[in-house]
Amino acid sequence: MPAFKFKGVDFIEFDSLLSQDELLVRDTTRKFIEENVIPIIELCNREGRFPRELVKPMGELGYFGANLKGYGCAGMSNVEYGLLTQELERGDSGLRSFVSVQSALVMYPIYAFGSEEQKKKWLPALAKGEKIGCFGLTEPDFGSNPSGMRTRAKKAADGYILNGEKMWITSGSIANIAIVWAKVEDENNKVRGFIVETDRPGFKADDVHGKWSLRASVTSGLSLQDVTVPASSLLPESGGLKSPLMCLNQARYGIGWGAIGAAMSCYDTALQYAGFRKQFRDQPIASHQLIQEKLVWMVTEITKAQLLALQVGRLKDTGKVQHQHISMLKKNNVWMALECARLARDILGANGIADDYPIMRHLMNLESVKTYEGTHDIHTLIIGSNITGIDAF
Ligand SMILES: Cc1cc2nc3c(=O)[nH]c(=O)nc-3n(C[C@H](O)[C@H](O)[C@H](O)COP(=O)(O)OP(=O)(O)OC[C@H]3O[C@@H](n4cnc5c(N)ncnc54)[C@H](O)[C@@H]3O)c2cc1C
Repeated sequence: MPAFKFKGVDFIEFDSLLSQDELLVRDTTRKFIEENVIPIIELCNREGRFPRELVKPMGELGYFGANLKGYGCAGMSNVEYGLLTQELERGDSGLRSFVSVQSALVMYPIYAFGSEEQKKKWLPALAKGEKIGCFGLTEPDFGSNPSGMRTRAKKAADGYILNGEKMWITSGSIANIAIVWAKVEDENNKVRGFIVETDRPGFKADDVHGKWSLRASVTSGLSLQDVTVPASSLLPESGGLKSPLMCLNQARYGIGWGAIGAAMSCYDTALQYAGFRKQFRDQPIASHQLIQEKLVWMVTEITKAQLLALQVGRLKDTGKVQHQHISMLKKNNVWMALECARLARDILGANGIADDYPIMRHLMNLESVKTYEGTHDIHTLIIGSNITGIDAF
């Protein structure tokens, strides 16, 4: 069990900006995390185990595809969905990653680019957690620049034949379906999405071992060797790299909120620890100016991050959000959370490196979160391109 019970972080009456429904989503998710995730997560992290037993309960609570409407989805607003991911990531970034992938990278592309038949077939089962999905865009040689991808789809008699390798794929080996992005040879190498059942001959998933980050999440490499899929596997409305980038935008939005959760966990732990840990003249370390300065930095940055997330969420809910807004949210909030984790690690001294406290786990997790879904620097370039009109990629 954790050393401290989470007390929440609200310095400027942020909660007064939220509706009753938004608070309800936040509070019920917080309770779920307290009861089901906090007691087991350090051991999962130590053992490198994804807590698969939580998939069904999370499905029953409507966590998957929560901001989609119909097809068994909860139909939450984007702010409610953001608060959900915040609480999930206060639990663990790996758990939030699972939900982000299932929701934003598997259900969203089916919802946005799929046929009615595909939506009816897959979305209710994915929403309940009866089926698990993964998203294959990154390749061993193409990460930040997916336009170079080598995975190819070739038209066959009654479908397509897929060949290629995908790398760093969350939930790869536990997925029932993979959303695979490939260049279609017969369509001038246009990038299109396919729903590929993972039990098709020629499909293989092998886990990445030796990860020091997101240890409570499955990460795999996918290999597709002459995998034959029917024509009905193609997401008919997908076309060009814009399609996977639209999915990433959905996921990055959730990450921007999620990072606040990890930061809150680190700050709250450091604040409580500093109150009871005594050094010099039998005084709590919280009485030292240098410790206070770190805590003040953390709560200030968390507060700014909350306001940024809420405004981007409100823009998303009114259909006004732009991709550069989401880039700023992802870039700033993940950086902020990582800095909070590093400062909290400092404040806990030697205890900061042990898994009696959540700090080191968040710190290591956030190193991945800073890299995936567009690295910190790539988001800088996206914002730079937007404000100057000049691409610097
Ligand atoms: C745990 C984990 C889970 C993941 N899950 C998924 C998943 O489910 N599905 C999926 O498709 N992918 C997934 N990814 C992959 C992730 O999206 C990529 O790692 C990410 O896009 C970065 O690619 P890369 O690692 O190849 O780094 P690279 O693209 O090789 O970049 C390396 C460095 O170079 C910098 N760089 C690159 N280009 C430029 C430039 N033009 N200007 C300045 N700097 C530049 C980058 O910012 C970075 O610092 C996951 C990754 C991790 C770590």
